[in-house]
Amino acid sequence: MDTRLSERPRLGDWHTAGDLARLQDRALEGLLAAAAKSPFYGPRGVPSGRAELARYPLTTKADLRAAYPFGMLAVDRSELATYHESSGSSGTPTASYYTATDWLDLAERYARKHVGIHPGDMFLVRTPYALMITGHLAHAAARSHGATVVPADNRSLAMPYAKVVRVLHDLDVTLTWSLPTDALLWAASARLAGLRPEHDFPALRALFVGGEPLSPARRARIGEIWGAPVVEEYGATETGSLAGECPHGRLHLWADRAIFEVYDPVTGTCAPEGRGQLVVTPLYREAMPLLRYNLEDEAEISAAACPCGWVLPAVRVLGRSRFGVPVGSARLTQLDVEELVFRLPAEYGVLFWRARAGAGGLRLEVEVDRRRRERVTRELREAVGTALGIEADVRALPPGSLVPAALLTAAPDVLKPRGLFGPGEDWDKALRYY
Ligand SMILES: [Zn+2]
Repeated sequence: MDTRLSERPRLGDWHTAGDLARLQDRALEGLLAAAAKSPFYGPRGVPSGRAELARYPLTTKADLRAAYPFGMLAVDRSELATYHESSGSSGTPTASYYTATDWLDLAERYARKHVGIHPGDMFLVRTPYALMITGHLAHAAARSHGATVVPADNRSLAMPYAKVVRVLHDLDVTLTWSLPTDALLWAASARLAGLRPEHDFPALRALFVGGEPLSPARRARIGEIWGAPVVEEYGATETGSLAGECPHGRLHLWADRAIFEVYDPVTGTCAPEGRGQLVVTPLYREAMPLLRYNLEDEAEISAAACPCGWVLPAVRVLGRSRFGVPVGSARLTQLDVEELVFRLPAEYGVLFWRARAGAGGLRLEVEVDRRRRERVTRELREAVGTALGIEADVRALPPGSLVPAALLTAAPDVLKPRGLFGPGEDWDKALRYY
């Protein structure tokens, strides 16, 4: 057993920024010893301490891709507990791997939710289990706190939306983990099933969400629809959870478990605060130590005090869509548009939208009930003009245009592969069970 295990700090173990820095320095020694065994860092030479780390080259996503699959592996392969790949769109995978000891740190960080995870909880894990870490992370955290896990991978054909709604309802699910968008899709699916999200799921006490930028208005709307708080989380498959929300709704970096910096690609410098690409040095890693890993997510770190008293820097994650798309002379991000759509009153019932930017302006389509069409198009056009200073061509689409009702109501059987068929049976799907 790793002796550093018992030294891992818990929330509340430190009271000042100085205490926190000392915790980091102590853990850094162990990390640097682990990094010396990495085939990636070993030959390059490992920094001797904090001061040298601050001058050490950043580790990039390209480095990780070049090291695929085991070029970052710092322990014997027999010690690995899990292997993952992140969901990049480029062809070369980004691998990451963890030992059982690494997993204790991962699960603990995820479980730092201010609403808590308890043995009485029924926890629906609705993020991918295949290759990525996200489903396993929530699963391990829930199990480690005695909760009952309902595995409901959002990429699995075995779990269509109608089945999610059935499970949420019939099992009295208390906690969920999903993309924010998924929680909106469940709401639409529940309504099509004749259920009212705000009334018919009284056991639900919080929705944990991550994996997508989320505007304040959309977040508030999800909470309003489900009648439960939305608790945000930020992380990556290569690192696990990096930030979680405090009771005051701010996202704090787990700086007792990792050193965070922001990188300015223009000047090539890093700083502990301010805006730039988020760079992380996770402090408790055996299988795959990472030194100054650039997540390439635009973020803003602030060390200003928060009423929660956690003594952890706050972060605002802007994601990779930070530059947005040009509309006339302005640049728009998805969050800019999302915020305006979800500022519409809840009773308009708008859940789904899409927009396309063009030289002439913005074409914005929203699904809305016939009775509200005129009001929604007029109010959105005005809101876009006022807030963003651009002309929007807002079109109202009938419900089901962007998200087909069949997607929300279908409950396909999960088949097993089959070779032998009776006379008159359709054998065109032989062996294909999906
Ligand atoms: Zn706080």
